[in-house]
Amino acid sequence: MFWNEELETIEENKLRNLQLKLLRDTIGRVYFNVPFYRDRFQQINLKPDDINFVQDINRLPFTTREDILNNYPTGLLAVPRDEMVRVHTSSGTTGKPKAIFFTKNDIDKAADLIARCLVMTGMRKNDVLQNMMTYGLFTGALVMHYGAEKVGVLIVPSGPGNTERQIMLMKDFHTTALHITPSYALYLADYIKTKGIEPAKDLYIKRAYLGAEPYSEETRKKIEEMLSIDVFNSYGLSEMNGPGVAFECEYKKGMHIWEDNFIVEIIDPDTGEVLQDGQKGEMVLTTLQREGMPLIRYRTRDITTIIPERCPCGRTHRRIDRIFGRSDDMFIVKGVNIFPQQIENVLMATKGVAQNYQIVLESLDNMIVKVEIAKDLFDGNVMHLVNLQNKIVESLKKEILVKPKVELLEPGALPFSEGKAKRVIDNRTL
Ligand code: ADP
Ligand code: ZN
Repeated sequence: MFWNEELETIEENKLRNLQLKLLRDTIGRVYFNVPFYRDRFQQINLKPDDINFVQDINRLPFTTREDILNNYPTGLLAVPRDEMVRVHTSSGTTGKPKAIFFTKNDIDKAADLIARCLVMTGMRKNDVLQNMMTYGLFTGALVMHYGAEKVGVLIVPSGPGNTERQIMLMKDFHTTALHITPSYALYLADYIKTKGIEPAKDLYIKRAYLGAEPYSEETRKKIEEMLSIDVFNSYGLSEMNGPGVAFECEYKKGMHIWEDNFIVEIIDPDTGEVLQDGQKGEMVLTTLQREGMPLIRYRTRDITTIIPERCPCGRTHRRIDRIFGRSDDMFIVKGVNIFPQQIENVLMATKGVAQNYQIVLESLDNMIVKVEIAKDLFDGNVMHLVNLQNKIVESLKKEILVKPKVELLEPGALPFSEGKAKRVIDNRTL
């Protein structure tokens, strides 16, 4: 089923023509209304009329996270502040956050993209969505909320936390779908299991939308099995509306990115060179329909690839692969580049490993992987622990090429967050 069949299955050449029209329009608007962009374009002697093909986009300069911060709060607005009806910020762990403004139309467009995503995964008017993302300054919960309302599903705006109450709500309101972070989903699945609740029998959940942080295919499988549901990957970032940028369809093989709203490019993060479909690099996104705060060639720092093949579902918007990590998540141990994702892949594929883990960087060549394991493994037989520990060390070495220290912990020993998980603790002093 489609929310907007005509647009979702639009012929490829028509899609490119539409992109060109929207791109020219966007460039014109920022050139005349945003001094930051006008200056940038003038520096390279570029006029809006110089853009004649979608590919001409690679003549435009990138916009970075620093550009948004330097123009905080209202420096990048393309229409008067009075036209804005909402502002969201992204986490900004230190100092000022990134502020993203929305006009009424922007809110409506973002909701429309979510509606496409939800209907694409089988959601209908009679479904019940428990929205377990944080309501507030973040985009995650509210943008999903407005989109779900458009489809007409019943929303339970529970936010995260208070797991006991979440389960009560699921039972009382017959929740059929969850919107949740992967780390909280793992915790929830485990909680449900330890309470002796059988999801297939005692609950009504059919699907969950997991996003906001990277997770592995193994994590997806684990959650699907533990809760007897389908898990769909959901990608977004505040700078580009929040959720609804790219989403998996029923085939669960990569996320369709809505190309009538975004131009997607993959670049080499070191040189800025545009890479071919299928090559792994940093994703760069340009908004095509934003009124309030259009962004040109925004460097997301997220590492992925564009999947070149057509999807059997009939949608022509290309798919991006699972986010491999953020370029700024990468760390170096003994001279080897490592993404937390690689470690998670190994851990979640290992029998006996529970839900939570943490990577502690002690020095340039010393890292500790702390991992919670199943309770019954602490049964007094030390050999079970030693064997598991060795197995994890060996599998990690195969994947990341360096041998980390591995510590096994009882379930619940590591700090747990209901929002985005903090997986890497950096104790290195430079
Ligand atoms: P912040 O950038 O401060 O974390 P956001 O809430 O905007 O704030 O987070 C967006 C980021 O979250 C993305 O750039 C990406 O790194 C990550 N993210 C979102 N969805 C996914 C997903 N499905 N898989 C992996 N990472 C994701
Ligand atoms: Zn598809």
